[in-house]
Amino acid sequence: MKCSQCGNEKLVKSSIPMESGGDGWSEISKKEVDIYLCTSCGHYEFFSMKKVHKYEEMTLIIKGKRDEIAKLETKMKDYYSEEKEKSIIKRIADIEEELKNIDITIRQQQELKDELKNLNQRLKVFPIGRDSLRQEISQKWSKLEKIEKQIENGDF
Ligand SMILES: [Zn+2]
Repeated sequence: MKCSQCGNEKLVKSSIPMESGGDGWSEISKKEVDIYLCTSCGHYEFFSMKKVHKYEEMTLIIKGKRDEIAKLETKMKDYYSEEKEKSIIKRIADIEEELKNIDITIRQQQELKDELKNLNQRLKVFPIGRDSLRQEISQKWSKLEKIEKQIENGDF
């Protein structure tokens, strides 16, 4: 370890005397910060691997959240896009048209009716699914932004 002020290599572990007054200040936590004193020029050096690890941890959380959001946005596109909704509506209209055909067999008719029932059910829950996914994405964004803000402000 070297003093960043004078280059002296003899630094000793120390502490910073701080008045603990009514303004809320007190001694820097030795659990959080390692403090060294240069024996040549009296310059203080501060280190905190604990904070470094905390920072790394937060960076990892941010990365994880970004990945989760990307997955949810893909899901949104695959399941709840406007095109998807339109294609369901179109298929329903097509089936209703096909059911008017008197030449289809009872079996075909039943299959179409089953499909129609399924599609109508999907269409019914479509806005609920889309909104809840949208909400999930926005919650993840706000958590992510909160952590980013903490890092930006050095609040960790
Ligand atoms: Zn020094």
